[in-house]
Amino acid sequence: MKIAVLGTGMVGQALAARLAELGHDVTVGTRDVEVTLAKKDPDTMGNPPYATWAHAHPQVHLATYAEAAADAQLLVNATSGNVSLAALQAAGTENLAGKILIDIANPLDFSAGFPPSLFVKDTDSLGEQIQAAFPRLKVVKALNTLTAALMVNPRNLADGDHTVFVSGNDADAKKTVIGLLESFGHTDVIDLGDITTARGSEMLLPIWLRLMGVLNTPTFNIKVVR
Ligand code: NAP
Repeated sequence: MKIAVLGTGMVGQALAARLAELGHDVTVGTRDVEVTLAKKDPDTMGNPPYATWAHAHPQVHLATYAEAAADAQLLVNATSGNVSLAALQAAGTENLAGKILIDIANPLDFSAGFPPSLFVKDTDSLGEQIQAAFPRLKVVKALNTLTAALMVNPRNLADGDHTVFVSGNDADAKKTVIGLLESFGHTDVIDLGDITTARGSEMLLPIWLRLMGVLNTPTFNIKVVR
């Protein structure tokens, strides 16, 4: 499948690498290709600059948000939650129409430092805001509840015996996304329901962030035992 991964951070890189490894034709979307390739410093988490990663993944293309989206059959939103609507606007409403968007972004507000608060919660969610802003896009919230490396290689923890969630209004879109998650190795994907259920998975972030602090690692996940 032709897939656009919007976002050059650790999530975009993890998704792009795994999707390409699985044989998909992947283009990463960014604001400005030259600026992104010219970055020399590691990001705030100490990950190497995009160009270093790109050198190791020559099969993944880099393009503007709009170019990446125009060509894609399916898109991934791996941008900061506070700029996701702007990034999708830059991708272009027409380039998004009728396509599936796997929305991994979380509505984190770092303006008062760490841990961040959620800038939308309870009665609304980022997933819903994206769906409302782009009604012809088929938004499926997924993978926002675990760290990037585990999103795409779940078997690296407890042989994959842990849970991820999907939320979205379009049943066929969710079926396609669940298929992709299973191709990554996920075995317990719970369909929470329509896009309003993204409120729940986004509101897992406060406990997720505290767990990361006390466990001193991002390599953990929730398992729903039933
Ligand atoms: P990030 O640093 O949150 O986001 C990087 C992307 O945001 C870049 O592509 C950047 O564009 C884009 N961006 C920044 N400002 C922008 C603006 N004003 N307009 C348009 N785009 C802009 O990357 P991340 O850590 O990989 O996280 C991506 C998303 O996944 C976030 O929403 C995060 O909450 C969520 N998430 C992360 C993890 C994790 O393990 N890190 C786990 C679960 C969910 P350029 O390429 O142009 O610089």
